[in-house]
Amino acid sequence: MIVQIIPIGLNKEEISTLPDFPFKYSVHENMPIPQHAHHIFRRQYDASKIVRYCAQYRKNNNLVLGIVSVDIYVRGMNFLFGLAIPALKTAVISLHRLGSANLRLYQSRVVKEAVHEIGHLLGLEHCPRRTCVMHFSNTLADTDRKGEWYCPECETKIREIFPYRK
Ligand SMILES: [Zn+2]
Ligand SMILES: [Zn+2]
Repeated sequence: MIVQIIPIGLNKEEISTLPDFPFKYSVHENMPIPQHAHHIFRRQYDASKIVRYCAQYRKNNNLVLGIVSVDIYVRGMNFLFGLAIPALKTAVISLHRLGSANLRLYQSRVVKEAVHEIGHLLGLEHCPRRTCVMHFSNTLADTDRKGEWYCPECETKIREIFPYRK
C-alpha cells in the first residue's frame, strides 16, 4: 500500500515546493480542477466533490491524497484544511490557508495536514492531545502547535496498516 498523491490544478511553484512526505507515496501528474466542484457564490470548491473526483484514480489497495491550492469547504463550515472520506480511501488537502514566507514552516504545515488526513483514512478520529497530529485544527495556530506525527496512542491503532517508509 502506498499513498497516491494527486496534484490538482497546482502551478509549477506549488508542485516544486511540496514537502517530502513521511510515508510511502507516488506523485501523479497534475490534473485539472473539476469545475463542477466550484461554488460560484462562495468562491470556494466543494471538498467532497474533489475527493470523489480523486477517488477514480485509486489503484489496488492504495490511499489517495489530492492536493489543491484553491479554498475548500463542506456545507456548514467556512473552510477546511482537508477532508477525508475513509469509505473511499481518499482525502484532499488544501494549500490555500497554509502559506508562509518561511518555506520550512509552510512545508511542515502541509505535512501535518497530509499526515492528519491519512490518519482519518486509516480509521483514526480526532485526538484530544494538542500536540498530536490528529488534533483538530480550527486555525493555523492549532496546526502550528501540533506535531507532524501521531501521539503514541494514535500510532498504536494504525501501526499495522500505516504505509511506513522503509
Ligand atoms: Zn480531522
Ligand atoms: Zn493522538
